[in-house]
Amino acid sequence: MYQSKAYSAASKTSPLAASTIPRRDLTDRDVRIEILFCGICHSDLHAVRDEWNEFMPTVYPIVPGHEIVGRVTEVGSAVTKHKPGDLVGVGCLVDADLTCNECHADLEQFCPNRILTYNDPDKHLGGVTYGGYAESVVVDEHFALRVPPNLDLPGVAPLLCAGITTYSPLRYWGVTKGKKAGVVGLGGLGHVGVKIAHALGAHVVVFTTSPGKKEDALRLGADEVVVSRNSDEMEKHAGSFDFIIDTVSAQHDINSYLSLLARDGNITLVGAPPQPLDVKAFSLIGGRHKLSGSAIGGLRETQEMLDFCGEHNLTADVEVIPIQKVNEAYERLAKSDVKYRFSIDMASLRDE
Ligand code: NAP
Ligand code: ZN
Repeated sequence: MYQSKAYSAASKTSPLAASTIPRRDLTDRDVRIEILFCGICHSDLHAVRDEWNEFMPTVYPIVPGHEIVGRVTEVGSAVTKHKPGDLVGVGCLVDADLTCNECHADLEQFCPNRILTYNDPDKHLGGVTYGGYAESVVVDEHFALRVPPNLDLPGVAPLLCAGITTYSPLRYWGVTKGKKAGVVGLGGLGHVGVKIAHALGAHVVVFTTSPGKKEDALRLGADEVVVSRNSDEMEKHAGSFDFIIDTVSAQHDINSYLSLLARDGNITLVGAPPQPLDVKAFSLIGGRHKLSGSAIGGLRETQEMLDFCGEHNLTADVEVIPIQKVNEAYERLAKSDVKYRFSIDMASLRDE
């Protein structure tokens, strides 16, 4: 075991602050990664403030961060996938049994024994896992992904969660050229979703509550932008969508989007508001509409997504911040005021 500098929160009302956390010594299958950048996902905010208490209560102290890019500094004796010096990414998963049906289907995110990057039982050290707002991390090589060399690192970090969470359902539901796809919410997930859906060739429509994001939505790859609080603008798209991905982090009216689906159209929820959403039966039955959900993606598909982003030169639009600005960043994230993901430059942790 060794000590790593990190930022952690001591309770749901405490700010994140400098601390020291234990990391395990390398096992044969592990790689040690010096963390260069870590994105700030809205899930980090939900978890730090214990907003998901009903589903996954937060254990304090918490070290969030599951959008990690870094450089391999050391590998265990049985490691074949990575070597010191390689650029790698780690997302929301750091372990799974790799033997169950879900793992055999390359869907480790649904493995009953999967371990999340933070706030999940740590079978090596006891307690809970600690995430990427830290100097370094040690993970099984299976959970470290190759980063395409042409991509800008601060913008790659968010792909490890926001990228795969949008790529996976867009692919699963066959979004491609000739399809009309909606993206609800232009935040971290939403803006990456727009770029990916555009790269897949779809006609992309962004729904935003922030009129000030209209120009950006078009620049990011949207063909049309709808301010969702304007019912006339919404009405124009009634019955027309093949697919809509909903990335909204707070309670909102899902029925107004269900009515925009074409026959057999589907809405996938990836946003995870703590409160239940009301669904009217008539929003679904009229057009044989589907309401579904999706969680990140498996390791094989996450690598596929990174390679796809490499080919399309696609990264997140980031505001790079030092770790000392993380609490300010959370305040802005809570107000949907991010262009469009914060990426923490982890070199700033050396100043602590
Ligand atoms: P984010 O950057 O805060 O973006 C969320 C966007 O939703 C905001 O920018 C805003 O877009 C819109 N929004 C916020 N509050 C709203 C409200 N009250 N009504 C309507 N729209 C609202 O968050 P994120 O990091 O993209 O994460 C989004 C959600 O996905 C979070 O709940 C997060 O926990 C969840 N998540 C799920 C998975 C998964 O595997 N399923 C993975 C990662 C994250 P506009 O300003 O454009 O309206
Ligand atoms: Zn996330």
